Amino acid sequence: MEDTEDIVIAGAGPNGLMLACELALAGVRPLVLERLPEPTTENRANGLVGQVVRVLDRRGLHERLAGPIAPPVPGFVFGAMRLDLTLVERNSLNVLGVPQRRIEAMLGERAAELGVEVRHGHELTGLAQDADAVTLDVTGPDGPYRLGARYVVGADGGRSVTRKLAGIGFPGVTEDRAVSHSANATVPAEFTDPGSGGLRVPGRGVIPPFFHYRTETGLFAYAPFPTGTLVTAMEWTDDEEPADEPPVTLDDVRASIRRVLDFDLPLGAPEGEGPHLLRRLRGRNTRLADKFRDGRVLLVGDAAHVHSAIGGPGLNLGLQDAVNLGWKLAATLGGRAPAGLLDTYESERRPVAERVVMHTQAQSALISPGGDVTALRELFGELLRLPGTVQHIADLMSGADVRYEPGTDHPLDGRWAPDLVLDGGTRLAELTATARPLLLDFTGSLGDELRGWSDRVDHVTGHADVDATALLVRPDGYVAWATSAAEPDDTDRKALRAALERWFGHSLDA
Ligand SMILES: Cc1cc2nc3c(=O)[nH]c(=O)nc-3n(C[C@H](O)[C@H](O)[C@H](O)COP(=O)(O)OP(=O)(O)OC[C@H]3O[C@@H](n4cnc5c(N)ncnc54)[C@H](O)[C@@H]3O)c2cc1C
Repeated sequence: MEDTEDIVIAGAGPNGLMLACELALAGVRPLVLERLPEPTTENRANGLVGQVVRVLDRRGLHERLAGPIAPPVPGFVFGAMRLDLTLVERNSLNVLGVPQRRIEAMLGERAAELGVEVRHGHELTGLAQDADAVTLDVTGPDGPYRLGARYVVGADGGRSVTRKLAGIGFPGVTEDRAVSHSANATVPAEFTDPGSGGLRVPGRGVIPPFFHYRTETGLFAYAPFPTGTLVTAMEWTDDEEPADEPPVTLDDVRASIRRVLDFDLPLGAPEGEGPHLLRRLRGRNTRLADKFRDGRVLLVGDAAHVHSAIGGPGLNLGLQDAVNLGWKLAATLGGRAPAGLLDTYESERRPVAERVVMHTQAQSALISPGGDVTALRELFGELLRLPGTVQHIADLMSGADVRYEPGTDHPLDGRWAPDLVLDGGTRLAELTATARPLLLDFTGSLGDELRGWSDRVDHVTGHADVDATALLVRPDGYVAWATSAAEPDDTDRKALRAALERWFGHSLDA
């Protein structure tokens, strides 16, 4: 045995790196193994959609990527149908258009600042666990070696080796009829619409930018990113995948667009530095791990769930898995976790993943070819004129509808803490950069209750315009207890102590 680590994370993708940062903030330095010799230049996500944008803000990471957080967007897309978010009362759909490789680079830098070691070119190949530890086989640039760890987290993507080695099932479906072609390309100016930023297509008017446009034969998207225009066409085919399919060309992308739009859009070579995307993707997997934890092995991100990328929900789910798991795993390792804390990772996050699976499958159905789908879309379009429906879908996509099991009946208990601003102008996001739990006490009277947890929970007083007089906020941003009483009574105080014990362990006085 070469070494024994506290925590080994397999995979330095976005979710593995985010988890590494969260663990480091909680005082644990994980070792990250990444099989690639250097960070990938492949780009997958073009942006973040939903609450995850605010999660980054609450760690000071949004600022590093894109400056101050922007307000929620006035419109989005669901199943290639417009979601008019000006209709809703509470719009929580934030979008951040940043390529995944930049997100990964930023998280890699942050992890390094926090002292995390990322071993590039080291691949996890074997795993065995007993009650006390996990033994890992790793192949590095100098050959194979063995490593011990108290916990291992598989953040190694949809084909997760960790998941397979741990024997965790990954049931679901593979839709192999979908083929999509994507490319960064230039489009002649005569086809662009400067007013809307969209694409003029004869016979179809202007296709809005960043919109999924469905036809009876497929789906088209035109995305004029500042870094280069991205075009995507998706079709359905009954043809078998050719054995030796040649690499995709710009002409293939153009031909696919022609079949989907019934229009020949001239495409030129992309401009600018790159790297440029030119990709063919076949098939679509929708799968959910049987469990997110088996003993000392845990899964986050794509290792635990894969689904269609429609609507961009992947990192909203995966990065919040990481933020949910980090503080719980650190507390467990430090021996101060209350009983069952680590189990709440799965009981809280798997239902969220189930809903993402549900809405991406529903969207995939809505973009499928066929007259019956066209009729379904007409009906769905009528429903999307109702503010309540739009609110429901927007909350589903952003994650604002997530409520973890509350300890009280206060409406904020179990919910994501609102983006409040204290009277001195301090935003909650500025108080949460260290990922420590907070008691926001606007009554100024609860400090005594916190005495037994003062080593773990910070006490913040002041005032904010929010539907509560005190909130206990977990490191992942969720409310663990709340009251609206101007003068909290014994029952409130008892419930607060119960919440402190439930989430942060025994009082120092116990
Ligand atoms: C075409 C496409 C478009 C997408 N668009 C969006 C979008 O717009 N918005 C969005 O939020 N999401 C999007 N997604 C989803 C998003 O890209 C994924 O959810 C995300 O990459 C998952 O991150 P991860 O860290 O879990 O896994 P990955 O990104 O797959 O990273 C896993 C890492 O583990 C490493 N690894 C694998 N095996 C081992 C091993 N045995 N040992 C050590 N290291 C290993 C890999 O090299 C890799 O670096 C898109 C996905 C695709 C395919």
